[in-house]
Amino acid sequence: MRLWWRFIDMRQIVFATGNMGKLREASEILGEGFSLVTPAEIGLPEDIPETGKTLEENSLQKARYIFEHKGCDCFSDDTGLEVEALGGAPGVYTARFAGPEKDFNKNMGKVLEELAHQESRIPGVSRRARFRCVVTLIMDGKVRQFEGILNGAIARSKSGHGGFGYDPIFIPDEYPDRTLADITEEQKNAISHRGKALRAMAGYLATFR
Ligand code: IMP
Repeated sequence: MRLWWRFIDMRQIVFATGNMGKLREASEILGEGFSLVTPAEIGLPEDIPETGKTLEENSLQKARYIFEHKGCDCFSDDTGLEVEALGGAPGVYTARFAGPEKDFNKNMGKVLEELAHQESRIPGVSRRARFRCVVTLIMDGKVRQFEGILNGAIARSKSGHGGFGYDPIFIPDEYPDRTLADITEEQKNAISHRGKALRAMAGYLATFR
């Protein structure tokens, strides 16, 4: 009986992602009150167009796509890695930094190469970087955005097997001897850009329950 009540009390919400790493993190962060569904599960493509010039625009574009096609509650995130010595690049081009195939290893390789190039020109150049995540929620047709930032630095080489994307080359300020791929998912969620943005969203969603 209790389980049944918990089931009907859950709010279904579509998360505009095909990335299972993100889906796992978001389910963990939002907790039991929400049942997350992917676009593929409701017959939409996983790769929703992202043609904006900012993270805010791309994030909004993905959530709007779901809302316009299915009219359901949904949220999306768009994340960028911003490297100080590269003038904030890759930024909005983070997923495709090394080419359209979105290859993580090539993307990380390109960041390391470009930083090494900068260091050869300007000795002691900063390796500071940040992840910035913008979450867009469309709930009962209303749009809201939430931001989360994780500050850190770019490692000299890859380390760790956890996480996804650029995690093996990002050293968060909270764990100065480790990359995001060296720490546990729980540790990452507690400090991450997405964790912060999703917890802000969860606080807002709590007002609907
Ligand atoms: P998007 O937000 O899915 O468009 O992601 C942009 C790029 O950032 C992709 O290459 C992702 O792999 C990468 N990315 C997003 N979130 C994270 C993260 O938490 N850690 C490392 N890379 C990430």
